[in-house]
Parts: sequence; C-alpha cells; structure tokens
Amino acid sequence: MTPVLAKIVFVVMAVAWYAIRLPHARRAGRTPVTRSARGTRERVLLAISLTGLGIVPFLYVATGLPRMAERSFEPWLAGLGVALALAALVVFRLTHKALGRNWSVSLDVREGHKLIESGIYGRVRHPMYTAFWLWALAQALLLPNWVAGLSGLVGFGTLYGFRIEQEERLMVETFGDEYRDYSRRTARLIPWIY
Ligand code: SAH
Repeated sequence: MTPVLAKIVFVVMAVAWYAIRLPHARRAGRTPVTRSARGTRERVLLAISLTGLGIVPFLYVATGLPRMAERSFEPWLAGLGVALALAALVVFRLTHKALGRNWSVSLDVREGHKLIESGIYGRVRHPMYTAFWLWALAQALLLPNWVAGLSGLVGFGTLYGFRIEQEERLMVETFGDEYRDYSRRTARLIPWIY
C-alpha cells in the first residue's frame, strides 16, 4: 500500500458509496413527506457533515492541502482502512435496501412510513450511522493528513451527536410504543454493546 494507492482507493470507494445511495435516494424522493423535523439546525449539521466527509478530503486528494497537516504514511493503517471502508459499504448497502422508501437524508416521515425492525435493523436501530462511523474511521486511516483524515470523524460526529436524540424523538412521536419496544430490544450502533 502506498499513499497514492490509498487516495485512489478512497475516491473509488466514495464513488461506490454514492452509487449505492443514488437509486434509493431517487425512489425515496418520489414518496411525499408527511411529517418532518428538518430546520435550520438540521441544515447546518448536514453542511458540517458534508464538509468533513466530502469537501475537505476531496480537496486534500486533489491538491494535497493542507500540507502542514501531513503525517507519515503507515501501510498497515491504510490496509485496515481499506477493510473498514469495505465493511462500511456492505453495511451501507444493506441499510439502504432495508429502509427503502423510508429513507431520508434528514429527519422526515414519509407517506406510508413503516418502522423497519428486522434484518440489519433487528439488533441495531441506527445501522446506517454505524456505516458512516466505519466510513469516517476508514477516511482517518487511509488519508495521511491530520486535517483531511480526521475531518470525517469530526463532521459526522457533530451530525450524529446533535441529531440522534431528535431522530429517536421523531420516531417515538410517529410510532409510539412500537418504537419504545423496538428501542428496548436494540442497541444504537453496535449490537449488544452500544
Ligand atoms: N438512523 C437510521 C436511519 C437513517 S436515515 C440508521 O442509521 O439506520 C434517516 C431517516 O430514517 C429518518 O428520516 C427517519 O424517519 C428514518 N428512520 C430511522 N429509523 C427508522 C426505522 N427503524 N424504520 C424506518 N425508518 C426509520
């Protein structure tokens, strides 16, 4: 593994990530929203996450900036990054398939919204966010730059930290005891642990 190869892997995997999402986003987008917890706060959080997971690392891959934040390249860390990125893609694909039209980039409830509780949603209630955490970790391991590497964890971590309670509140408002029971049976991100 070399620094150039690590950057290529990062970009190819990022394109794959987007390709997995696109058809699901299109399909979900055609289903009307009936209730939403979107607002300025959500918009800011989404922008922060996009900056950390998208803009900063791509600027780095394209230009090498910021150069003063460069760190030494460790092939074994990058190898671990590839494994985590692959795991992230697999989990991400499973979650999109399971959520179907119930997916939204923000906090929405759609017409005929169903609470998904089985498959990958059987043990964990936010597996798509698990995929994002895995992806952000992979970014940190693949890109040998403190700023471009860690920006994903900071950006997504900010979105996650401020969104998760709101999302669960929206789910309780929509599904009531069904979601409360579901929460009791599941972990947030890591089966049995958290
Ligand atoms: N937090 C989930 C879903 C992320 S997509 C995960 O990490 O896998 C965000 C949208 O999913 C929200 O608009 C919310 O309405 C919806 N959602 C969250 N959990 C859901 C579930 N178990 N079943 C159906 N929709 C869900």
